[in-house]
This record gives sequence, C-alpha cells and structure tokens, in this order.
Amino acid sequence: MKVPFKIGHAVVTAEVFQRGKPMPTMINVHDDENTSVAAGKVIIEQSGGRLIELSHGGHRLVTFSLDGRRYRFDPNRIFSDAGIRATLDKQSTWSEAAHRAVKRFAAQYLEHFALDREPVIIALHNNTNGALSIGSYRPGSEHAATARVVHIAAARGADDFFYVTDQRFFDYLRQRDLNVTLQDNRNVPDDGSLSVYFGRKGIPYVNIEAEATHLNAQIEMVRIACEMLNETLFATGR
Ligand SMILES: [Zn+2]
Repeated sequence: MKVPFKIGHAVVTAEVFQRGKPMPTMINVHDDENTSVAAGKVIIEQSGGRLIELSHGGHRLVTFSLDGRRYRFDPNRIFSDAGIRATLDKQSTWSEAAHRAVKRFAAQYLEHFALDREPVIIALHNNTNGALSIGSYRPGSEHAATARVVHIAAARGADDFFYVTDQRFFDYLRQRDLNVTLQDNRNVPDDGSLSVYFGRKGIPYVNIEAEATHLNAQIEMVRIACEMLNETLFATGR
C-alpha cells in the first residue's frame, strides 16, 4: 500500500509493508537508510507486523518548493514547532508558509497511521562508521544531554545500538549486553524528533540504529527488539 502526502509541490510517499497483524509497527523516515528497512522486512516476513517507510527520492532530507522558494528539512525533526523551525533554518530557510506545510505533513503522517494510538513504536535507522555511536551518549559527549543512562557492550560494534525511552527496555537490553541508551524523557532537548515526541506522550519507543553495512547485526537487533516486546509489554500474566 502506498499513501502520498503533499508538501508544497513535492510528494512524500509512505510505503506500507505488512504481514499478518499490523503489530508491531516499525517506521523508517530517512530514505537513504535502506539497510534498516531490509532488516525490518526480514523479521516482519518471519513473525508479522507492519513497516511504514517514507519514500522521498532516496535522500535523508526532504526537499520541496512553495511559492517559488525551495525548502529542505529532516523528516525526523518535524514533530514539534521548535523542531520544524530549527530544521528549516538549518537545512534551508524558515518561513511561516513552509512551517505550516511541514507541520501539516507531520500531523497527517501521525494521524493517517494512528501512530499516537500504538502501544509501542520501533524506529529503524542507519549511520555511517565513525559518526553517531553509543559513545555519543556518554557523559561529556555530544548527545549526553539526551541520555539518562548508557550501557556500552564491549563485544558489540559501537555504531550498532538501541535508543529507548522506557526503563524496562533499557534494563532488558542491558541484561542481554547490547549497546543501549535511555532517553531522559523529562529533560531531553526538544529537537522535534520522534523519540522526543513519543517520549513525551508516554508511548514506548525503540530506535534500532546500526551501521549501514551491518545488515546481519541489524536483523538480529530487530529480532531481539521483538522478543523484548513479547517479554515485557505483551507478556501475559499467569
Ligand atoms: Zn536516520
């Protein structure tokens, strides 16, 4: 299934891949992070669920024109007014009309797939070797302000890590000795990202972030995330 969203003169298409029940829901917003999408599809083929992938020309950023001007934004920075303003400013330029168009898109995306009513969201991302890593969340590092606590697994690649908003997920993943950082939901800077958005809504959120060449590692991580949901959120009492 494909769902088109208009932003100015551009179209961003959400492609939905589903097997069995639409649970869990996995989302991918950066169109150049294809390893993560491939990993999610492998697990959905095996155990069911849905993956909603934004398609916008294969780039990380979305470009659109409006009233004869070109704008660009990061689709993972548009889920608050502060985020929309900052990403338009950083990636192109801000205007009130562009702000409104981006805000409308963000709202339509959330509403169309009823993401605010999900029990949990799995986000799929990739990074490049040496850029973002679990080390970025250590005290004193670049993203330390977002993190309440960090667990670093010596046996794992530092670029392959989980970013979670729920203490139960952190405890589970730390116990399995995976790289994981727990978002400080109260004090995290509002960058308009989905982790901040869902963190504030109290909807558990798991970002599975792996180096783009680590397909097998990311498949294993998605599988572990699904096991984690079954053993924590969806565990039936006896
Ligand atoms: Zn990404």
